Amino acid sequence: MNQALQAIRGMSDLLPADSARWQAVEGAIRRTLDDYGYREIRVPIVERTELFQRSIGEVTDIVEKEMYTFDDRNGVSITLRPEATAGIVRAAMEHGLLHNQRQKLWCTGPMFRYEKPQKGRYRQFHQFDVEALGFPGPDIDAEIIVMTARIFRTLGIRHVSLQLNSLGSSEDRARYRADLTEYFRAHHDALDEDSRRRLERNPLRILDSKNPAMQAIVAGAPRLTGYLGDDSAAHFAGLRSLLDAAGVAYTVNPRLVRGLDYYGRTVFEWVTDQLGAQGAVCAGGRYDGLVAHLGGEPTPAIGFAIGLERLVELHSLAGHAAAATIPDVYLVAVGDAALLAGLRLAEDLREASPPLRVEFHCGGGGFKAQMRRADRSGAAVAVIIGDDEVQAGTAGVKPLRGDAGQASVPLAGVADAVRRALAGVA
Ligand code: ATP
Ligand code: MG
Repeated sequence: MNQALQAIRGMSDLLPADSARWQAVEGAIRRTLDDYGYREIRVPIVERTELFQRSIGEVTDIVEKEMYTFDDRNGVSITLRPEATAGIVRAAMEHGLLHNQRQKLWCTGPMFRYEKPQKGRYRQFHQFDVEALGFPGPDIDAEIIVMTARIFRTLGIRHVSLQLNSLGSSEDRARYRADLTEYFRAHHDALDEDSRRRLERNPLRILDSKNPAMQAIVAGAPRLTGYLGDDSAAHFAGLRSLLDAAGVAYTVNPRLVRGLDYYGRTVFEWVTDQLGAQGAVCAGGRYDGLVAHLGGEPTPAIGFAIGLERLVELHSLAGHAAAATIPDVYLVAVGDAALLAGLRLAEDLREASPPLRVEFHCGGGGFKAQMRRADRSGAAVAVIIGDDEVQAGTAGVKPLRGDAGQASVPLAGVADAVRRALAGVA
């Protein structure tokens, strides 16, 4: 096919056959976040490139090689958002939402990263992103994690487990970084190219390496846990006892890191063994340094992002059905006069209380052809209007499942007759 008529590599269409599952998953997350008192914020899909460079950090996979960056027509460098935190923090600062206030926020939508497309990894993908701004924790850290656990439970997804770590304060990490750099320097010959580059600028990122050849060296590296100062240790212990009290199980994984300076203390990730290589479903952490780093008042903050493609896949693997909404009624109208009466009747039924879901037949055709469509629509009842019915001021009400016959009903009684027929098939 002509390439102009094909989607961009790594960017998928969501087809009608799959949208019911997406709506079910998104709806469940949205309701959970609303129930916990988190409020939606929507931010633009593009921001100035500099915002992402400053907030995600120069020495990261995202900024080094994954961003979709363009000059606009005025020569301003803009970037399709690779994640939502930067835009949300920018919006909160710009609109004074952090001025003597705390915020519990969420956002959802497409993110863009120039990655190698494969199952579970795309160039346009979707996240639910949650940020709590102004809370020092560890109570909010626990709430956020408890909330992620509830999202999985609500969706009936069981094969996920929680990994937890503390990155300490920036002073803790400075001492750790010095020892870590020394360790990796001593193993310089065994480091891959990426790791050598990271060694001087951001050695913590080496711990995050996805190259299997690096696993042995990483396993022997000093552990950050041994470097936590008193405050960070108390924060981590506080979080752990809150999670224990809430009955949320976790494993402490000392290799779980974020290589950015303004990330600190709590980091967590939900992982699964059901999705092959792409096992991370939800990742989050505390970034108390970011707002100040962007020029605002120091503001403690924690957030997470759930990857929707991976979550929807888990929902499907768990065997949960997600059926598209089907109409209650398929309205068959044969003839010009019936078309006018039928269109009006359809609107009346949609306004009945309680309202009925009505699919109105468009595209003409005879009675038989329209009834075939009615059958295929999945509706339980057909409402039929032809010239005779128009004359008599009635409509035919015919259950489409079971053997009950067609009844002739005055127009004002159609909604009740449909409801009786629906109750009969239920
Ligand atoms: P990974 O290690 O898989 O690259 P990441 O650390 O880059 O993940 P985050 O930036 O923390 O991911 O994003 C949070 C979640 O978003 C991930 O856990 C994952 O579920 C999802 N995600 C990230 N990148 C992609 C992608 N390219 N395609 C689909 N989902 C993604
Ligand atoms: Mg990534």
